[in-house]
Amino acid sequence: MTTAPTASKIFSDRIGRIEVSATMAVTAEAAKLRAQGAKLVDFGAGEPHFATPRHIKDAAIQAINDNFTRYTTVAGIPEVRKAIVERHACDFGSDYSPEEAVFTTGGKLALFNAIQVLVDHGDEVILPVPYWVSFKDIIQYAGGKVVFLETSEAENFRITADAIEQAITPRTKAIILNSPSNPAGSVVSPADLERIVRLAHERNIYLLLDECYVYLQYTGALVSGGSFTDAKEHLVVLGSLSKTYAMTGWRAGYALGPKAIIAAMSKLQSQSTSSTASFVQKAAVAALSSSQECVAEMRADFLKLRDRILGRLAEIPGVTCTKPEGAFYVYPNVSAYLGRPGAQTAMELATRLLHEAHVVTVPGEAFGTKEHIRLSYAVSHENVDEGVDRMKAFFAKL
Ligand code: GLU
Repeated sequence: MTTAPTASKIFSDRIGRIEVSATMAVTAEAAKLRAQGAKLVDFGAGEPHFATPRHIKDAAIQAINDNFTRYTTVAGIPEVRKAIVERHACDFGSDYSPEEAVFTTGGKLALFNAIQVLVDHGDEVILPVPYWVSFKDIIQYAGGKVVFLETSEAENFRITADAIEQAITPRTKAIILNSPSNPAGSVVSPADLERIVRLAHERNIYLLLDECYVYLQYTGALVSGGSFTDAKEHLVVLGSLSKTYAMTGWRAGYALGPKAIIAAMSKLQSQSTSSTASFVQKAAVAALSSSQECVAEMRADFLKLRDRILGRLAEIPGVTCTKPEGAFYVYPNVSAYLGRPGAQTAMELATRLLHEAHVVTVPGEAFGTKEHIRLSYAVSHENVDEGVDRMKAFFAKL
């Protein structure tokens, strides 16, 4: 008689090494409540509240009407690869060729594929904390060992070259650098960035630069690690059109890196998604090659929203918050309200905020810290006020 396989026999080891993305789980939970009629203020998954600019939508519609609806080459049509490298060269002084660019189904897939082609079982990958939810799981899925690198809240969670240097061992294969960072909005200083790039290059370590928020820096100049052309051999720039052009649902991302790495990522893509949607590539060309005025306009509004939410959060007794220098998240410390019945952890607090105050947030545990919740302020100014009003009332009763 045969016995039914146990769960551990059904599933591969690697699927057991990851969890459901917390941002996606929160999105699903919020959608459920919304379907039941709840009027939520959504500070959950970060996505611009703006509509995708008209000229980008028009390019996609035009492509569909022109029947540009078939498979394309896996790494992307020549125009989109060219548009990616030209945009980056123009904004950051890099010198990639189109063969050093691949267009992917969202920035997340660029990261996923880069890790899969570079990281082997037991390889160490340095990951600064707090980290965006998916880094840890994607590294673990590949069999890599995550080396968590603590940062200091008093120092704005800023990542320094000294800290990275200390975390390097002979097994270090890669370093993840996400600047501006999600969830804390911290930005690596230009001097540290240069040192980290040089360090990676000299030690033969790959530096994975997650630059999804590269156009949302509020410190003055826009800086990309990809501008250090002499260290190119060890750099992989991971980019996204989601945040820059309000295109989260289009799933449009890219990677820039050494030809061999890009070819390996394209090979992997050829066995999974193949190319991205054909008409999304045409929309991406329009986004990257047209006037960038829309980007500047959205950035200006995000900056106002940041200041507004920081000011409003300061009204909640006991809640403190670092000042983000980029991206569109705040990462308030709510430890004053934790350790109480019904709100032992940030996870419990976020769950209660959702169900009792109808405010969507993501608990800090998802980003590797226990005392915070993350709020995306990519919402309207009215929603910032409404959401914080609800939080104030909720915290007052805790
Ligand atoms: N920027 C989004 C967030 O962190 C990404 C969502 C995701 O793909 O997990 O909320």
